[in-house]
Amino acid sequence: MKMLWLSLLTVMMPSKTLVMSLPLWNPVLPTQPHAGPSEADWEFAEEYLKHFYGYQPKPDRRKRTADNSIDADWTTGFCDKVQEMQRFFGLPQSGELTKETLEVMKRPRCGLSDVERFGDTMRWKKHNISYRIAGYNLTIPASQIHKLFKAAWKLWSNVTPLQFRKRSRKEADIVISFHSGDHKDGSPFDGKKGILAHAFMPGFGIGGDVHFDADEDWSFNSTGFNLFAVAVHEFGHALGLSHSSDPGAIMYPSYNFAPNYEPQLSFRDVKDIQHLYGIGSNFAELSSKNPPPRTPDKCDPDLSFDAVTQLQQEILFFKDRFMWRKHHQFEETKITLISGLWSDSVPYSLDAVYENSGRNFLLFFKGHQYWMLRQLNLEEGYPRNIWDLGLPSRIKSIDAALHFTNDHYTVFFTGHECWRYDEQQKTMEGSPTLIKQQWPGIPYPIDAAVFYEGFVHFFKGNVHYKYDSNSKRVVSTGPANDLLECKKDNNEILMVGR
Ligand code: ZN
Ligand code: CA
Ligand code: ZN
Repeated sequence: MKMLWLSLLTVMMPSKTLVMSLPLWNPVLPTQPHAGPSEADWEFAEEYLKHFYGYQPKPDRRKRTADNSIDADWTTGFCDKVQEMQRFFGLPQSGELTKETLEVMKRPRCGLSDVERFGDTMRWKKHNISYRIAGYNLTIPASQIHKLFKAAWKLWSNVTPLQFRKRSRKEADIVISFHSGDHKDGSPFDGKKGILAHAFMPGFGIGGDVHFDADEDWSFNSTGFNLFAVAVHEFGHALGLSHSSDPGAIMYPSYNFAPNYEPQLSFRDVKDIQHLYGIGSNFAELSSKNPPPRTPDKCDPDLSFDAVTQLQQEILFFKDRFMWRKHHQFEETKITLISGLWSDSVPYSLDAVYENSGRNFLLFFKGHQYWMLRQLNLEEGYPRNIWDLGLPSRIKSIDAALHFTNDHYTVFFTGHECWRYDEQQKTMEGSPTLIKQQWPGIPYPIDAAVFYEGFVHFFKGNVHYKYDSNSKRVVSTGPANDLLECKKDNNEILMVGR
């Protein structure tokens, strides 16, 4: 049995506060000494890339010379790996160790590599698979643990011909256990957070076994890490699946579940497991009732958006739990999770988002509430009610928000009306105007609006309206996703072709 992990993660997770003065969304500039991540962050990132991305620094390298400049060879190899990691997680692929890249690296995750592909041979050669729950010492009662693991296996057996049977004493194919720190398999756990669990690919002995970090605060209905969701993920490995860069997949490597989230397999997970084991006899019936959710596809001609905003040099397109980040310097626009950037500070399925770049904040709107974030952090006292901005109480939610940086005002769209908010005076104009008068040619209610490169861009359903506010007319229309430049990358084509 081949050991499937790379070197151990020797650096423990540093505290969440990063000592950095690098501006957010730093353009691709040479790394400046004294202005970037701390020494501890560099070391952390290096260990992370070694562990999860197969980074192998040259043994004789001098990564930082005495005058604090950075060795060119070292930089190239390191930056390539940063870029690979950024690509996997849908971050702008600058190769720079930006604050947000570090933030994503520091999110709790699975201990397996993101770049090792296990191939079709790593699978059980039978359909009846046994598992055994070895010792654990949790506050969750045994009966609930058993129920939870049974339910986690069921998600996989629902879509395949596989059957899972629990054994209490005899040998089993898959042994599930909880461990603290070093547990003699070459991949020690790291205490609270960081790595949550790992598993071995199908095979004899330790093959197929699943280990959870006993030091985590595990739960499945209140606070702490969602054991059910992590179990479904690790069981996927125990059946032979690698990590998926689809952020909607249960096989995505970073943890992004609410404690009470009921995990389900995504369309991607179902395709991948069926590729290994075939389709279960109940699958057609089950999936017609409850089809596995598909991650939104930027190439979908019917794609619409919840909200669109500018953010420094990027435009962000929001959809459900996901967003695309278009950066003019980077060709590829990949999908990522909203929570990957802002943790759980902002809700999903947003109504509107805008950036006030002059005052350096972002506002997120959903229902009658709004959230203010600076840098990546939620400001104190939020969420607040949209009525605090001066909207009348008859307004229950907004459709879109459009910010004009130079003129210091924001327009809120609600149904057939729009409201002008003075960002300097912090006052709303007393009465709304009609969209059909203010923005002739724009249908209502709209989904999203953003000011970008001298034009206002409106989105409604699968249509994008480019609008010139000087001449007050629509200058062009196109598919809503035209700014995302639908172009399947090689990886995606490979995945789709499987
Ligand atoms: Zn994993
Ligand atoms: Ca841990
Ligand atoms: Zn282990």
